[in-house]
Amino acid sequence: MKWEMIHYDVQLFGGVVLHQGKIAEMATGEGKTLVATLPVFLNALTGNGVHVVTVNDYLAKRDSEWMGPLYMFHGLSVDCIDKHQPNSEARRKAYQADITFGTNNEFGFDYLRDNMAISPQDLVQRSHNYAIVDEVDSVLIDDARTPLIISGPIPKGDDQMFEEYQPLVERLVGVQRQLATQYLAEAKSLITEGNSLIEAGNKKEGQEKLDAGFLSLYRSHKALPKNKPLIKYLSEEGIKAGMLKTEEIYMENNNRRMPEAVEPLYFVVDEKLNSCDLTDKGTAWLAKQVNDAELFVLPDITSELSALEAETGMTDQERLDKKDEMMNHYAVQSERVHTLQQLLKAYCMFNKDDEYVVIDGEVKIVDEQTGRIMEGRRWSDGLHQAVEAKEHVKVEAATQTFATITLQNYFRMYHKLAGMTGTASTEAGEFWDIYKLDVVEIPTNRPVIRNDQDDRVYKTAREKYKAVIDEIVRMRDAGRPTLIGTTSVEISELLSRMLDMYVNPETGKREGIPHQVLNAKLHQKEADIVALAGQSTNGKGAVTIATNMAGRGTDIKLSPEVKAAGGLAIIGTERHESRRVDRQLRGRAGRQGDPGSSVFYVSLEDKLMRLFASERIASVMDRLGFKDGEMIESPMISKSIERAQKKVEENNFGIRKRLIEYDDVMNKQRTVIYEKRRHALMGERIGMDISNIIWDRVVNIIENSGDYQGVKEEFLHILSMEIPFTEDEYINKNREDLTEEAFQAAISNFNRRTERIQSVAQPIISQVYENQGHMYERIMVPITDGRRMYNIPCNLKEAYETESKSVVKEFEKSILLHIIDDSWKENLRQLDELKHSVQNASYEQKDPLLIFKLESAKVWDAMINEMYNRICSILTRAQIPEMQQVQEAAPEQHTQRQQYTESKQQIGEEQLVDKNQQAAAQHDTRAQQPRTPIIKDKLPGRNDPCPCGSGKKFKNCHGKGIV
Ligand code: ADP
Ligand code: MG
Repeated sequence: MKWEMIHYDVQLFGGVVLHQGKIAEMATGEGKTLVATLPVFLNALTGNGVHVVTVNDYLAKRDSEWMGPLYMFHGLSVDCIDKHQPNSEARRKAYQADITFGTNNEFGFDYLRDNMAISPQDLVQRSHNYAIVDEVDSVLIDDARTPLIISGPIPKGDDQMFEEYQPLVERLVGVQRQLATQYLAEAKSLITEGNSLIEAGNKKEGQEKLDAGFLSLYRSHKALPKNKPLIKYLSEEGIKAGMLKTEEIYMENNNRRMPEAVEPLYFVVDEKLNSCDLTDKGTAWLAKQVNDAELFVLPDITSELSALEAETGMTDQERLDKKDEMMNHYAVQSERVHTLQQLLKAYCMFNKDDEYVVIDGEVKIVDEQTGRIMEGRRWSDGLHQAVEAKEHVKVEAATQTFATITLQNYFRMYHKLAGMTGTASTEAGEFWDIYKLDVVEIPTNRPVIRNDQDDRVYKTAREKYKAVIDEIVRMRDAGRPTLIGTTSVEISELLSRMLDMYVNPETGKREGIPHQVLNAKLHQKEADIVALAGQSTNGKGAVTIATNMAGRGTDIKLSPEVKAAGGLAIIGTERHESRRVDRQLRGRAGRQGDPGSSVFYVSLEDKLMRLFASERIASVMDRLGFKDGEMIESPMISKSIERAQKKVEENNFGIRKRLIEYDDVMNKQRTVIYEKRRHALMGERIGMDISNIIWDRVVNIIENSGDYQGVKEEFLHILSMEIPFTEDEYINKNREDLTEEAFQAAISNFNRRTERIQSVAQPIISQVYENQGHMYERIMVPITDGRRMYNIPCNLKEAYETESKSVVKEFEKSILLHIIDDSWKENLRQLDELKHSVQNASYEQKDPLLIFKLESAKVWDAMINEMYNRICSILTRAQIPEMQQVQEAAPEQHTQRQQYTESKQQIGEEQLVDKNQQAAAQHDTRAQQPRTPIIKDKLPGRNDPCPCGSGKKFKNCHGKGIV
């Protein structure tokens, strides 16, 4: 093999930057793969392992094979985790290599899997020493919006209400649609009338008509913003500007007049905030449909509880029961309301073939960034189930999180982190804020001569696409290949169809334009196609349509003819939400001093323009008064668009930051629990750990159990022992001495237990070993705490040689792991719930994050308490049941795994949007008005039998309209 690449000078700079733990921004085609070899080699010399992280497995394999010989020549070992099965021996070996390639998700999942391992042999990762992340913006920014999650089924997970309420919500959306259509029609005629009145000189009356018209239009927009006829109408001259002006009037003074505007609607949709809120009218409509005024209303639990506290004439037990009942009722109600809200969202904000597709009876998410289908990912929080109900496919059972981490927190564990990409500088602030990564821009090896043109703006999407096709044909005829970037699968297919239908204006015949479309999830094939995107045949340039990320990382080389013809032409069909993604697309042309050009086509119907382009653009465009098919190209518009993009970027950064602020809380807990878990797993200092737990319990019992009787009960309950001091001693003795003595007593009690297990096990073990030792390597020893039986797998020889000490140790280890995992799962579930419930805190002008921090500390303390109690109570009760036989342990027993699902879940981003903002923008004032609690004592419960003896439920009989 002959190595023909020598590092260019700029590549040496890049290498230095990576070695320093920073991000090297180097344009596409600058040879970043080669750059990375410098710091990788240098850092691998320590033997602590270097990880090279890529965005997909094709690149991981390619790069490991491409650069592998260079490392191996110098005596270093290279491997790639994506080539091997998770949890396998081969995967562990890959981590033992000096240099390990792999995809970001697999690195992250391996970390989580390692922390679910039940035997040290299952661990695959070493410590997190040094990682270089290729396409670092894609990994640490785009992908970081969704945490890695390993989940499994929960008992009763299919106990959901989505199918039950789907028809109801469908009808609700139906009535709202009627309303929206009606308002739109009204708006159109009023606005036309108004305009002609004004033209005729009747200013006053004309203006009145216009005002009324724009209000109708605004209502239609608030009712269903994604309604196609509405979007179309909004792109007409002066219409959008007029509506925005009307909106301003109602939003003035903190939405003072908003209720007026939205009052006739059933619910209010806000695309920007990603929210759907029922109005009073909607709530009333629902109540009427189900004939129940409270079915979809959340009880005011806080007032109800304080009313209960204030109530006299109740025993403590009654009060507790009542409280339980209230809490249960609240839980059921909030589940129902939540179901309804998610269904509404599914209908109003998620469109088939845009946000998701339905394939083989499954709802699959389409990635907004890349336009690809995200296999196996699900929206969280019931949203996915809601969409499933809407599409009438099987609604999947709810699942429970076993382990989760954000990519941010995974990569922050590395002792040293570095990254490279062509596009980092627009996000330099975020890289620094979150990862403490500096961005260093490295100049290109040769000057860039690509011609980046101003945006070409059209009124409607239809005109825009037509112009795009014309441009493609023009370029192709000039012998220049084109790469057409789209933001969604839908658009790439539309363009592909348009190219197929292309009619040659000269011949009048339908000729079609040959082209390639990249949007499937076939990295390898994509790479092959993209590699050819810079060619031409018979003087005609190749045409390639790609969604955003398709083929990232693959070099587009130009043939000499193409270079002579002007190089690759990049045509963007829409500005993306973030400038970075647009820059990435432009960067596909003009590598290593190649000629080339880039231009974006934009229309007023584009999402970015609809949502964020300011009123000013709309009015400027109106003033310029351009007609159908006309286009403007002005630096001013391009600047405005970039400003809009900046706004969106900031907003998205805010969301990611919020996500990580929440995850940070969990991260601290995760670090502690995983450390405890690891100790248990390795079993090295297990005796020490257990005696610490016992100490902790003794202190806790003595301090927190109240009187002597209480302390006595707790000793029995938790440590399975008689209280080791008298009442007199308890009252009079110095606390420290008391605790110390009690601890000694607890430890010797515990030791007696373990010795007893050993002495019962030993004769059986000896017998088995001496007689059948040649047959068995591992055996199962049954141990019980009186409630449950635990079968503990042990190595027979070791058990024999240690006189069954190893049996006890294995048992302790199993219990610790089992209880820690169980408690952590429960803790995760509670944190999840907490995350939801704190969002309401902002209604009381409190910061949800702060409350989350405070409350999660309580959840944590309670969890640790409970965990220690359970551990102690099992360990101190353990014994070998009588008459039990030792059985052989199946060798694979140590890797029994449940059915786990690994996913990168879309978290509902709306959960993390600051509800303060949301409340300010909320047009539905219902949520802010404290509802007066209705005190319903002395009345039977809603579902109790009616006291009249009819046998009906109270709510359906004499309680009708009261409860
Ligand atoms: P990037 O990741 O920066 O987009 P790549 O690592 O894919 O770029 O490399 C682009 C092309 O440049 C590859 O074909 C590679 O072989 C070539 N290349 C990179 N560095 C050199 C060099 N020093 N000498 C010759 N060719 C190089
Ligand atoms: Mg690359």
